[in-house]
Amino acid sequence: VAKRLAGKTVVITGASSGIGRSTAFEFARTAAAAGGLKLVLTARRIDSLKQIATDIVAEVGEGNVKVLPVQLDVSKPDEVRGFVEKLPEEFKEIDVLVNNAGLVKGVARAPQIAEEDVNTMFNTNVTGLINMTQAILPIFLRRPNGGSGDIINIGSVAGREPYAGGSIYCATKAAIRSFTDSLRQELIASRVRVMEIDPGQVETEFSVVRFYGDKAKADAVYAGCDPLTPDDIAEVVVFVAGRRENVVVADTLIFPSHQA
Ligand code: NDP
Repeated sequence: VAKRLAGKTVVITGASSGIGRSTAFEFARTAAAAGGLKLVLTARRIDSLKQIATDIVAEVGEGNVKVLPVQLDVSKPDEVRGFVEKLPEEFKEIDVLVNNAGLVKGVARAPQIAEEDVNTMFNTNVTGLINMTQAILPIFLRRPNGGSGDIINIGSVAGREPYAGGSIYCATKAAIRSFTDSLRQELIASRVRVMEIDPGQVETEFSVVRFYGDKAKADAVYAGCDPLTPDDIAEVVVFVAGRRENVVVADTLIFPSHQA
């Protein structure tokens, strides 16, 4: 796996915390054994990204990874459009895009959800993911044999099993599933792999955000649960990216054993 990933350039959205952050570390650790790779870490919180970049280099060694932190709000089409163009030359030849950025704005019944929250969830989780994909696909499609590269979309169990109070978030994650499936079919004759990973409950900042920052409420709901860690998902992301180039791990559902 290290040899397959070595030398690649990996872009991760939402890399400033949780699953995205762990995924950055996991790519760096895995590829370090074979000479390393390049990471482009994106999110809105640039200070967190810079700290993560420093920590990754400190862990795997300067010669084994190159990390570029880039402030990017995926919900802003103009920022996404300019993203590839502004990359330094040595990071432009992207091989892997991990579309991980996502959020939930509160859990409420549909009639109570503010229009602003609906728009924020769709603009980030769905339109942001689509815009990132469209920005990077031309790089993949310029390559021989119809193109090559990996698009790994982070969906959710919520996209498969909607729940009361989660209507908008669930709808965004269902939209990701549809988009991912259609895109995979459109690119079937190429070497571009379009893959989706759907986590169940993972212990991240997300768990608290879901309850508008009310940690006590989040703790009460999650009491007795043994959630996955961000590293559990990161290992799967790197696993699918590290398969032989004609192996497509198209659709992965991963949840803690207590979660029915
Ligand atoms: P976190 O809240 O820890 O991470 C979310 C990441 O998304 C942050 O890095 C955040 O960075 C980034 N982000 C949010 N909005 C934007 C934006 N507009 N532009 C760019 N980046 C943005 O949660 P997780 O790690 O848990 O979430 C990662 C993904 O996993 C999400 O898509 C989520 O839906 C999904 N997921 C999570 C589950 C869980 O139980 N935790 C379960 C199933 C799926 P910043 O604020 O710096 O911009």
